[in-house]
Amino acid sequence: MSTYVHEALNTIKARDPHQPEFLQAVHEVYESLGPVMDKHPEYREARMLERIAEPERTLMFRVPWTDDKNQVRVNRGFRVQFNSAIGPYKGGMRFHPSVNLSILKFLGFEQIFKNSLTGQPIGGGKGGSDFDPKGRSDNEVMRFCQSLMAELFRHLGADTDVPAGDIGVGAREVGYMFGMYRKLSNEWTGVYTGKGLTWGGSLIRPEATGYGCVYFAEEMLKANGKSLEGLTCLVSGSGNVATFTIEKLLHLKAKPVTASDSSGFIHDPDGINAEKLAFLRELKEVKRGRISEYTTKFKSAKFTATTGKESHNPLWSVKAQAAFPSATQNEINGQDASNLLKNGVFVVSEGANMPSDPEAIAQYLKAKILYGPAKAANAGGVAVSALEMAQNSQRIRWTREEVDKRLHGIMENIHKNCADAAAKYSKPGNYADGANIAGFLKVADSMLAQGLL
Ligand code: NDP
Repeated sequence: MSTYVHEALNTIKARDPHQPEFLQAVHEVYESLGPVMDKHPEYREARMLERIAEPERTLMFRVPWTDDKNQVRVNRGFRVQFNSAIGPYKGGMRFHPSVNLSILKFLGFEQIFKNSLTGQPIGGGKGGSDFDPKGRSDNEVMRFCQSLMAELFRHLGADTDVPAGDIGVGAREVGYMFGMYRKLSNEWTGVYTGKGLTWGGSLIRPEATGYGCVYFAEEMLKANGKSLEGLTCLVSGSGNVATFTIEKLLHLKAKPVTASDSSGFIHDPDGINAEKLAFLRELKEVKRGRISEYTTKFKSAKFTATTGKESHNPLWSVKAQAAFPSATQNEINGQDASNLLKNGVFVVSEGANMPSDPEAIAQYLKAKILYGPAKAANAGGVAVSALEMAQNSQRIRWTREEVDKRLHGIMENIHKNCADAAAKYSKPGNYADGANIAGFLKVADSMLAQGLL
């Protein structure tokens, strides 16, 4: 690791010693940047590594609301406006009890490089709350979203900051937040992406992260003379990213065999086909049920309970050739990665953000498997969000085919840019370094050009 990278990491660690997820994300990016710092003293002179790891602005606020029993509840709301050098802040809102500043800073930091990789004019941001929508009525969720937006709206704008969904924030939550934003700002602009199709949403936005993640895997395989057809695939999660990943795998004749939620996972050796996927979607999105119910309907499947506290997750021990982690951060540790490799997985494409921990990544790289890091592989979602913003600004609407074609083209470009950057800095085939380097260069050059801000 270059001396400057080491020095910058120590400064950042000393400043936020209690933000482990944020430090993990910074470490992972900066490890790749040594050769760039050696070649370009101008970044070191401009203290670019210290600057880019400090958000431009961090908002933290009280969100009071009343539950259905008329009891007052208080949650904490956040928005980390990380970097706007190449466009308005852009990144999702996450509602989950685990949300804190460390998690949102890790997500916002990753988002800067991911958004840069898409080639779209979007900066990096992230936000959310420790509110848990699970088990809450629609009315409770609405009151919470309205209270959150009563504060957040003054910090947003079509040319300032445009949030989107993430864990716990789907179509319902986006609707309530967008509605309140529109009322308070007295404007109809495209502030919020992931909107419903009748009120400004883009076709293919719901599908984009999952589809994009599969397109990225396909590109990595194609570059090595292989394809997804016939491959047995492990998918974790059962939310937006996981279900559309399964859908695209089916289109490409692969065989997805697992899905999970925070209570455990199902393994269906016969494959999750279109009928089973429709059931899964209804179960999780509409009935808001638990994944074990899949096995009462489809006898070919087996449910295994997990708590998230085990030394390894048995989902990653199922025999397969490809893995698409699509639930949450650090869901694959070193032991899981070694099980994946032992059982024949040779392609990992990350739908979730930072799903593999540093030990897992080290094993993929050592084994030289095809590893698509999150900031490249799951960038399709935010890329189509940028297309939604473009359509809203122009008051036009593209067809499904048009948006899907653009998404596919964007994923091909991301793959190429990562591969080229890796090769240029002597790491051929290392998409993790390639993504970090390509994402960084564009933002750093824009920051240099705009002066010390
Ligand atoms: P959803 O809320 O739709 O689904 C999340 C899924 O992951 C659910 O099945 C949930 O289970 C499971 N999950 C969440 N937290 C945990 C946990 N701590 N342990 C085990 N399982 C968990 O979210 P998304 O599909 O939108 O997001 C999934 C991942 O993809 C996240 O990392 C997100 O940041 C990332 N991502 C999402 C994008 C998007 O466009 N939506 C874009 C880019 C990245 P349960 O139902 O039990 O909560």
